Amino acid sequence: MQVKLLDLQPQYVPLRDEIRQAIDEVCDAQSLVLGPHVEKFERALAGYCETKHAIGVSSGTDALLCALMAIDIKPGDEVICPSFTFFATAGSIARLGAVPVFVDIDPRTFNIEPNLIVRKITKKTKAIMPVHLFGQCANMAAINEIACRHGLLNIEDAAQAIGATHHRKPACAHGFAGCLSFYPTKNLGAFGDAGAICCNDDSLAEKIRKLRVHGSGHTYYHDHIGGMFRLAAIQAAVLSVKLKYLNNWHELRRRNAGIYDTILAESNAITPFIEPGNASIYNQYVVRVTGRDAVKQKLQDAGIGSGVYYPLGLHLQKCFSHLGYRSGDLPETEKACAEVLALPIYPELSVEQVAHVATTLREIVG
Ligand SMILES: *Cc1c(COP(=O)(O)O)cnc(C)c1O
Repeated sequence: MQVKLLDLQPQYVPLRDEIRQAIDEVCDAQSLVLGPHVEKFERALAGYCETKHAIGVSSGTDALLCALMAIDIKPGDEVICPSFTFFATAGSIARLGAVPVFVDIDPRTFNIEPNLIVRKITKKTKAIMPVHLFGQCANMAAINEIACRHGLLNIEDAAQAIGATHHRKPACAHGFAGCLSFYPTKNLGAFGDAGAICCNDDSLAEKIRKLRVHGSGHTYYHDHIGGMFRLAAIQAAVLSVKLKYLNNWHELRRRNAGIYDTILAESNAITPFIEPGNASIYNQYVVRVTGRDAVKQKLQDAGIGSGVYYPLGLHLQKCFSHLGYRSGDLPETEKACAEVLALPIYPELSVEQVAHVATTLREIVG
């Protein structure tokens, strides 16, 4: 039995007519960038994320960059973030001339460890950017408390966590702003690049709306130096269709995770830990195994795809070598990089496929 790590076809096929009709509407209207289709999606998204505002942008990366621009992150400022994350988290900070200050993770959840944040706060610290990795929220209760006590702003990197909840409140509704990605591999995927920023603050939302069109409120008059971060109408139309099915897809991912949890319970693969008070959307189902690369190869030989998110912490990336981190500085991040393995978890997998992956892995790792 062949099982891919991710297959987008089985999600598209049953929605084909509905999605093509939505795309057709955009074609007929020829309102192609921002406009009514984007506004309609933004309203639905704000409702889904339980925030007052949702602003569609060109990608998750641009959402992070634009949110940091909106809170005036400047050269020399420090922004605290995890090292165990996708590059965009720290890349967006560095692109503004600010310094990403890397903090180690809680080894059980893979998310930033709140207790380690406090030690990294200096006079230059302006913000914290927690990441809700693999679909589980970071400990926002603790992080908000720290941010509040030290006068810092929180920008959630919720690229992998749309609809994940922490004490019943969804990702993006905890921080000053929350950033989403609709890259096709995320739980809500567009037909190309797309993203959004959600927030409750009216003036922040107004500024973000300007920043996504080169800082202009009125065409050709510029209040800020922004970027071109506009969301395409075709993407918004596709996303509006898919948003209706998202909770159902989350449930199917949770069902798949439950099968893995059960079959792998007594094995040498360490299954994901979901913190009490959190509901994960399982953008990835990530186990820890020793001899990870060999295990991955054996799965591949058995026709099963798997992935490594992430093989190297951002603190040890070549492009950040000037920041002076050494190997050993973030031990839990480095250990996770050596052990993590993501298994197929997409909603359309059959129960038999998931069980097959789990039993195959169990045979490999013992
Ligand atoms: C996917 C992702 C992003 C970036 O999103 P893009 O839409 O690919 O630019 C940012 N942060 C994290 C944690 C992600 O997983």
